[in-house]
Amino acid sequence: MKEIQKLFPSMDGNDFQREELLSYFKTILTKIDALKDPNKLTLGEMPEYSEDYYNRVIRQASVPETGVSMEEVIQKLLKLVEGHRYVNRNYVANAAPLPNIASIIGNLVMVLVNGNNLWDVEGQAAATAEIEVTSMLSKLIGYDESLSAGYTTWGGQGAVFNSLRLAIARFAPFSNQKGVPQNLYCFCSELSHYSLYKSVEATGIGVENMIRVKVNENHSMNLEDLKEKMEHVIAKGGVPLYVLATMGTTDTFGIDDMEGIKRIADEVERTYDINPIYIHADSAMGGMYTFFNHYDFENNPLRFENDVNEVLKSYQQRFKHINLADSMVFDFHKLGQTPYITSLFLVKNRENLKYVDLDAAETPYVGNRGYGSYHTGYTLECSRMGSALAIYASLLAFGIEGYQELLANYIRVNITFRKTLLKEISNVVITNEISPITTFRFYPEETKWNDELNGRLTIEEISEINQFNDEFAEVIGAERDTVFFGNTKKQRIVKAANSSKRISLYAHKFFAISPYTTIEEVDRYVGFLKEHLELFLKTRNSENFMIRA
Ligand SMILES: *Cc1c(COP(=O)(O)O)cnc(C)c1O
Repeated sequence: MKEIQKLFPSMDGNDFQREELLSYFKTILTKIDALKDPNKLTLGEMPEYSEDYYNRVIRQASVPETGVSMEEVIQKLLKLVEGHRYVNRNYVANAAPLPNIASIIGNLVMVLVNGNNLWDVEGQAAATAEIEVTSMLSKLIGYDESLSAGYTTWGGQGAVFNSLRLAIARFAPFSNQKGVPQNLYCFCSELSHYSLYKSVEATGIGVENMIRVKVNENHSMNLEDLKEKMEHVIAKGGVPLYVLATMGTTDTFGIDDMEGIKRIADEVERTYDINPIYIHADSAMGGMYTFFNHYDFENNPLRFENDVNEVLKSYQQRFKHINLADSMVFDFHKLGQTPYITSLFLVKNRENLKYVDLDAAETPYVGNRGYGSYHTGYTLECSRMGSALAIYASLLAFGIEGYQELLANYIRVNITFRKTLLKEISNVVITNEISPITTFRFYPEETKWNDELNGRLTIEEISEINQFNDEFAEVIGAERDTVFFGNTKKQRIVKAANSSKRISLYAHKFFAISPYTTIEEVDRYVGFLKEHLELFLKTRNSENFMIRA
């Protein structure tokens, strides 16, 4: 057993074993640092992803008969890291975080004491941290912290699933025994994340009972369409159960009007005398902007530029109403810059958890003892990681102002990117509102955005422009080692001139997520696009010419 014990941290805290562990950490940090290159996206060279790459991995894998040395373990791990994308100034694709130092330390503490967040007796550190961050963030968004509840869970998607489960159990407490009623309906914007799609599948509500609501020009849910569709459901004998209000759509950062959605829900409830409709704010993308809910835009203590200030002020108008939702989520591993997974699901009224809590008789192993008073029998996980520790550490290290600086920079960089892009390239349009994300679309010749928006192009014409953007995404994607842009095949949905079918528009995406993405870098981003676009147009034209000839 002595050899086996060497695989573990010490029991008594002796210097020797600590130094050994530290030396492993040091090797890993040093080797990873050696792979960093600010001019590239990846840590070292990317492996050759040949067609049979994963098949080869499958064939070669086997558990070693005897364990290998720690040096070799480290070497193997570092081999995996080689070529890994690293979120630095060249990464402008998606909401991928670079975990901040406090969150790394919080995660380390989480692993070292390895509490189980299921029960405070098994994990007091994370239990207290979870309660603390729940209270901190409740106060920030305007939930009453003496009534709210919160727990970390499996992502923004987990928060959607958890909220839907609460909605079902609240409406039909018998459903836990008898199954889900067949006449329940959910509503979401047609640009919402697929989390709800999966959740209606998994809860048994069914995708056919998920109603997609049209969006406005600014990518927020169209309230008239919502109301109409709710009334239609009621007329058919259905029950409007749940509305997913997206606050920051994944690709375009559209922010649904929470106040308006709540007003319509109230109206419909009163008019038709139905049970309260559950509203979940899917704030996985945008929730961090609640950090401006109490910012004084008149005095502007952090001295944000006027245009940045204006955008943030308009966010405050939207996000201050998030407390009307029955639940919401903070995805710190998106704009909050922490490791996966650090999502906090917040529930306005903790009473609602009683509908999904386990009966004491069903939990013979944990909870329900004289000792311990925090037992999260209402979560879908049993054992839970203590990721509240990483959130807690970040909140302490940044403070409200630190996060405000970080979040304002995303906007600042996007404003500059937009201006530069339009100045440098003529056949491009920007297709969403100013936000941490810019979506943009190129055209083979002059721009036709207005025609596309207003249904004046045929399906064939729109498809050709989509195709053009799709091909260009491949071109710059192959060069993602230099600058990695994102793209989407559903920037918005428009009418075509020759069809009743609505059609999705493709777009490229600039996501200013890294703290190293600053306005000084913008010329380089646009230069990269311009250079590749010119080359792409040239080769395309000569190919077309050859085909014609
Ligand atoms: C990212 C995202 C999700 C999913 O969150 P995960 O943390 O990846 O599970 C849900 N909704 C929106 C709007 C998102 O942007």
